[in-house]
Amino acid sequence: MQSFDWIKDTPHFSDEQLEELLSTEDKTAIETLRKRAVSTVFKIYKNSIYVRGLIEFSNYCKQGCYYCGINRMNQDIKRFRLTYEQILSTAVHGYELGFRTLVLQGGEDPHFTDEFIIKIIRGLKENCPDAAITLSIGIRSFEACQSFKEAGANRFLLRHESADEECFEKLHPNNQSFVTRKAALFKLKELGYQTGTGFMVGAPGSSISTHIKDIKLIRELKPEMIGIGPFIPHHSTVFKDHPTGSIEMTLRLLAILRIENPCALIPSTTALNTACKDGRIQGILHGANVLMPNLSPPHARESYNLYDNKVSSGLESDAHLRELGNYLNKYGYRLDFSRGDYRGSSATCI
Ligand code: SF4
Repeated sequence: MQSFDWIKDTPHFSDEQLEELLSTEDKTAIETLRKRAVSTVFKIYKNSIYVRGLIEFSNYCKQGCYYCGINRMNQDIKRFRLTYEQILSTAVHGYELGFRTLVLQGGEDPHFTDEFIIKIIRGLKENCPDAAITLSIGIRSFEACQSFKEAGANRFLLRHESADEECFEKLHPNNQSFVTRKAALFKLKELGYQTGTGFMVGAPGSSISTHIKDIKLIRELKPEMIGIGPFIPHHSTVFKDHPTGSIEMTLRLLAILRIENPCALIPSTTALNTACKDGRIQGILHGANVLMPNLSPPHARESYNLYDNKVSSGLESDAHLRELGNYLNKYGYRLDFSRGDYRGSSATCI
């Protein structure tokens, strides 16, 4: 019988080991991996699960990513944009509930010019002074990202989606390239953002070998935040018949990423919870330590459908925080509303 003893102490797995971890049926080995991921995160963040208040402010997007339900070609959705006042009041509502990280998430919407984003950041800083501001607004110029930083933004999320060029091209039209995406991520790090990246597990064109490339890109970038979730098809996209990515594979990858990146802030993603009934807690039990309840007004939540059946109510929403806290307590975890900055040595936690 094959020995998996190396799971217990290898800091970075070799390609061969990753291949074995991602393909084995050995339940003992998988459980050893999971337990190591949990003890790794516990050494740094204990049983804290950080909450981030998610504000989805626009589902307009100028891009045409083939997998995405809000891509510009989709005529079959109700588009929305929050006003400046609505964004601010949503943020203040979250701040009053105790959130100390606010995540501004939207499509690449030209209505939200760089100047407008700066105005929003300044408004958030003024009204929610000790909250960290995270941007998830696609690719902007280096100068714009610098100005956002100067205005008070602390963190930036930009998923690479796939670190395999062929797979990336299958998922995106040719105005986007993996090279540009990768360069943008390194620029964000250079600017001192706590930077987040991530990928879709089981996306069209992906395989164990493309996911090994994802892990290796993450080693190279050393992001402060890592978000992964299973690919979930959207009925209005060309990938509507592609199967949902494997939950098991997602959880295994999550555990590997946790072991290799002990200090990273890793969410148990909405996609995981959409694809699997107890996905949220399963993510945490494989090393995740962040949840992102949705603060957006109901009409916005309902229209921000990146994929089918995206959950945005129940325990996914701000209205059920106490319930969520009680739920986590049952598993020995506690909700932590503090900023939850990255605790690694290279952190820039301004
Ligand atoms: S994935 Fe992001 S950039 Fe691409 S179409 Fe969707 S919202 Fe726009």
